[in-house]
Amino acid sequence: MADSSMTRIFLDAGHGGSDFGAVYGDRAEKNDALDLTMAVGDYLSQYGFEVVYDRIDDVYHTPYQKAENANNSGADLFISIHRNSSPYPNQYNGVESLVYNRYYPAADVAASINRQLEMIGWRNAGVNERPNLVVLRQTNMPAVLIEAGFINTDEDNVRFDETFDETAQAIARGIAGAVWNGALE
Ligand SMILES: [Zn+2]
Repeated sequence: MADSSMTRIFLDAGHGGSDFGAVYGDRAEKNDALDLTMAVGDYLSQYGFEVVYDRIDDVYHTPYQKAENANNSGADLFISIHRNSSPYPNQYNGVESLVYNRYYPAADVAASINRQLEMIGWRNAGVNERPNLVVLRQTNMPAVLIEAGFINTDEDNVRFDETFDETAQAIARGIAGAVWNGALE
């Protein structure tokens, strides 16, 4: 079993600053992403992991800067937190995790996160490959991008708000469980 204190986790809150991400009503993805990232980081710290953040406030970094920051941090694992969106409101629901390649170790971490989120009520929309996403392609450690429900689906926003702490803890538990089970070894 891997030791938490030996594992450095880089957390990237998606978007930021002039890049709002997806917007729905008065919600902006960059804000949901930052709130959830900070809460996930708190739980990971409680579990004994060393946590490094790309941003802790509302600033813009390009995806290349985010990947470079992660590479420079010496992190063992890169986790990016986003909200999903669809062409029309209330079209889809659920959580999805994106990886560069589903055969890489990142897919184990992603599946573990999805499982924990499913256990607290989120629909599990699976682990999917997205090899052209810069933060997944340019990072030199296993990388997972979590889409924490659809920002333009009311049902998912209710769940995001009402189970915010449980959602953060489930993500942290999913990461921790995979690491402790040796996903990064
Ligand atoms: Zn996003």
